[in-house]
Amino acid sequence: ARAEALAASSGPGLTRDGHHVALLANIGGVEDAEAAGPQDLEGVGLFRTEFVFLSSDKAPTVAEQAEIYRRVFAPFGSRRVVVRTLDAGADKPLAFADLGPEENPALGRRGLRLSAERPELLDAQLEALAVAARDTGADVRVMAPMVATAEEADWFARRVRENGLPRAGVMIEVPGAALRSEHVLRDVDFGSLGTNDLAQYTMAADRMQGVLSDLLDPWQPAVLDVIAAACEGAARAGRPMGVCGEAGGDPLLALVLTGLGAGSLSMAPSKVAMVRYALSLHSLPDCQGLAAAARGARTAREALDAVRAAVHADL
Ligand code: PEP
Ligand code: MG
Repeated sequence: ARAEALAASSGPGLTRDGHHVALLANIGGVEDAEAAGPQDLEGVGLFRTEFVFLSSDKAPTVAEQAEIYRRVFAPFGSRRVVVRTLDAGADKPLAFADLGPEENPALGRRGLRLSAERPELLDAQLEALAVAARDTGADVRVMAPMVATAEEADWFARRVRENGLPRAGVMIEVPGAALRSEHVLRDVDFGSLGTNDLAQYTMAADRMQGVLSDLLDPWQPAVLDVIAAACEGAARAGRPMGVCGEAGGDPLLALVLTGLGAGSLSMAPSKVAMVRYALSLHSLPDCQGLAAAARGARTAREALDAVRAAVHADL
């Protein structure tokens, strides 16, 4: 019965009572885009642009980038494509954007911090994205990685708009930005929670160290509290908040994140059908109850068990 229900689920993400949660794809390049484009999803919630250039030793030109971005956008027609500007450094080093060795790369000049030191890289990328958006007609929205402060968000939004791109957002993956999301989001159009880094920084546990996976677990109640604070701040600012970390692709966590206030979930495309099915079985108040149960737990294990015990199906 579950397999049939799963196969039959299609269309936009909706809770049982009709609350919309956009279901989006995480992609890393042209091949992923061509595979995800024909699938039943509402667009892209995270295009990790740095993946395209992992083996480039020279900075790609505007023309080279525009050609790639056109091929990434085209499979999505007029659907939304959320593009993250280069998230170089730490676990994603790029040869042409290397600022030299650092003692603590995860806490160093990575993401938007690197863009601030090499603004010519950011401007070339934004220019190429604007060209490709115009040429394809895709609904392109650009967001910055590793934003920590309101000033950084403002600086990024200004540069995005100067390049003729209509929508700017920020990733919320630093606890400081999550706690202050109302203020960080004031001059941007949306926020997107990066739960992988948010867990790393909330629990002070290196995401590259597999032995620390219990601490990196998004079911950690502290991580859920930080996510809740970020969603509440976004609501006060009147800005949509989504999730683009791996947590959004787990059906039980997807329910919890919906209950915490996430309005979109971006995940590996293979996960969309299961998450859509899970949402269809639960109302928004159900999801809010699951979120409260998870946050009421003392441990990650207890949070997961509490939600598992309360859901209406074997998800
Ligand atoms: C995240 O940090 O959760 C995220 C979506 O980005 P990445 O995994 O690429 O750092
Ligand atoms: Mg991240």
